[in-house]
Amino acid sequence: MLKELREIVQQVTASSDLNQAMGELVRQTRSAMRVDCCSIYLRQEHEQNYLLAATDGLAAKAVGRARIPLGEGIVGLIGEKEELINLADAQLHPKFKYLPEAREDAFKSFLGAPIIHQRKTLGVLVVQQKQVRLFEEGEESFLVTLASQLATVIAHAEAKGNLRSPNWHGILRGLAGSPGVAIGRAWVWRPRVELSKVKERKADNAAVQHERLDKVLVQVEDELNGMALRFKESQASESVAVFEVYQYILKDPVFIGLIREQIERGWIAGSAVKRVCEKQIAQFSVMSDPYLRERAADIRDLGQRLLTRLIHEDEGLLTLAEPIILVADEISATLIAEIPRSKLKGIVSAKGSINSHAAILARAMGIPAVMGIDHSFELLEDRTLIVDGYNGDLLVEPVPSVLREYRRLIVQEEQMDELFATVRNESSVTLDGVTVSLLLNAGLSADTDIAMNDTADGVGLFRTEIPFMMRDRFPSEQEQVTSYRRVMASYVGKPVCMRTLDVGGDKQLPYFPIVEENPFLGWRGIRLTLDHPEIFLVQLKAMLRASQGLDNLSIMLPMVTSLDEVRVARRMLDRAWREVSAETADQQGIIRYPSLGVMIEVPSLLYLLPDLAPLVDFWSVGTNDLTQYLLAVDRNNGRVAGIYDTLHPAVLRALQQIIDAARRYAKPVSICGELAGDPIGVLVLLAMGYRRFSMNNSNLMRIKYIVRQSRCDELQKLLQEALSYQNTSMFKGLFGRYLEERGLGGLLRGGR
Ligand code: PEP
Ligand code: MG
Repeated sequence: MLKELREIVQQVTASSDLNQAMGELVRQTRSAMRVDCCSIYLRQEHEQNYLLAATDGLAAKAVGRARIPLGEGIVGLIGEKEELINLADAQLHPKFKYLPEAREDAFKSFLGAPIIHQRKTLGVLVVQQKQVRLFEEGEESFLVTLASQLATVIAHAEAKGNLRSPNWHGILRGLAGSPGVAIGRAWVWRPRVELSKVKERKADNAAVQHERLDKVLVQVEDELNGMALRFKESQASESVAVFEVYQYILKDPVFIGLIREQIERGWIAGSAVKRVCEKQIAQFSVMSDPYLRERAADIRDLGQRLLTRLIHEDEGLLTLAEPIILVADEISATLIAEIPRSKLKGIVSAKGSINSHAAILARAMGIPAVMGIDHSFELLEDRTLIVDGYNGDLLVEPVPSVLREYRRLIVQEEQMDELFATVRNESSVTLDGVTVSLLLNAGLSADTDIAMNDTADGVGLFRTEIPFMMRDRFPSEQEQVTSYRRVMASYVGKPVCMRTLDVGGDKQLPYFPIVEENPFLGWRGIRLTLDHPEIFLVQLKAMLRASQGLDNLSIMLPMVTSLDEVRVARRMLDRAWREVSAETADQQGIIRYPSLGVMIEVPSLLYLLPDLAPLVDFWSVGTNDLTQYLLAVDRNNGRVAGIYDTLHPAVLRALQQIIDAARRYAKPVSICGELAGDPIGVLVLLAMGYRRFSMNNSNLMRIKYIVRQSRCDELQKLLQEALSYQNTSMFKGLFGRYLEERGLGGLLRGGR
């Protein structure tokens, strides 16, 4: 049975058409289970019934016609109870409902399984037999397995099917990635450029074109190396040969020479690649040797890779005529960073979740984003969209009344932003006189970080990954010095906390691919940098050098799990400091030894706080990862986004424990995860006793406004009451009301 099951599943999941897939499934299941009938009923929400959608055994003409109202018949009962029903003689069951048009009177035994996707019943899968008998256990599990596979196919097809009609309009539900509302036209990012679709162009700057070609040759070679490595590690070593062929072509002086010749004739790099590749494809395609004929496909693929890099790098994005809503299967932080801010209104991503770095970046830039919309995006191209980043909804071709309503919301948001801007130069003091520090999370978006220097009390977290990610090699020490000094010099007299490289997880360097089964539990943050002292030392030295004369640097270590990591990192910092001090002493310069802290992100540290305290100068809580690791919920996975809860009782207890220990050991502590910039989060943290918050620039002003409207004594009482609820939504409700009472409810749902 296992073989048959696998075959059915493979065929059904491979089919692009739902009706065809269902037809295939009922036919094959009937034969594999040796039953007289197999049928699929789909739940129709609007019509409140189950519709016979496919059958092999019942009257074919009943397909698309026979309906069973919800809650009626045995099919309705299965949907209601969400469990399998196995009956030796269904006609004796009190719920049995005869469907005359389906002609099912001949069948006695009945086995039905609910088709459930993400807790929602989509339909019922049924097999029937003329003979009176109970189905065996093996048959039951066969049907349940099929129903679960079918659920995914139906869910996808339903979603995509909706979009097939060009005039379709409606709402697609995803996850709220970044608050706010945006209205605009969809611009679908397609990472691959087809050779045939590229228009040929000339330019009179051959030297520039040669340089562009050089750059992408290196990038594509790295990309291929990465792929080859991934294949090697996944044991599919025979596939590595494919990449070796590509690498061979890439290095072939004849091939590259032909492209250069075209550039010399005046063609831009992309056109030169296209011209040479198309000619070679034509030559290889007609060869009689099948091996050589295959090379045509290799050249096409390789040419498209080169073109994709060339086009997206320099031309495609920058020529956007009007602001767009960026729609993509997967949005990386680098993709967002490449689009000019003025051209980017909203973001829609199929993959990712609330705390993916792409969503964090969107929030930092104040761009509304919806994540986890799993749909076929080609059909969205150029259509009018509303991105509702509060509710995680994407509205496609909204009707005029809805558009009007959302436009009104945007105006209200602008008014609220104006209100928040009034506190720009005010201090962050609560109504009962408690002063708090509001710091900036910087590093993800270069253009906005510096602009906040007068509003923020300093930089609480500088993520150094982006300068590493935006290059095609590790940045040199001097390049790092320049970029770090730019930030430190913008915050003279204010603290700047630089985090050492935290790559791994969902932050990959294009030139240093890490392929792991479980990247968030893998080689990430301090684990990687301690294994590469040459990278770590250069970074530490660059930070130290950049701080010379400014003396506002502190350094923070990400992903620390054990005390030994801190001890080794401390030794490295000592060494880096000694070395740069020795060099600068000749020039009579002094470099101040910075304070060193750790991020509390891995739960192991919660149990080590007394031992950790004497080793470091401060702690900063990374609530994004701490939540992920405490609750064992991938921060990127939309499927489990519902249980990624930063206010989960366990997270709250951990936060309370950290602030208590910070007081006991007199350790300065701050919060630099997204919770600090969350309107409810900051109230809860204030109540616990936290006084230093680091957040993205788009939240800074509104959090300052909230702080200035709050009283810590009231919040402490509220927290005591809220903790007794043991229920997250009631907990949030209480703090939400506190905001409502101060006219700030709009921060949670949009509009006033
Ligand atoms: C965190 O984990 O809370 C944090 C601030 O670090 P990052 O989001 O960069 O992982
Ligand atoms: Mg983190």
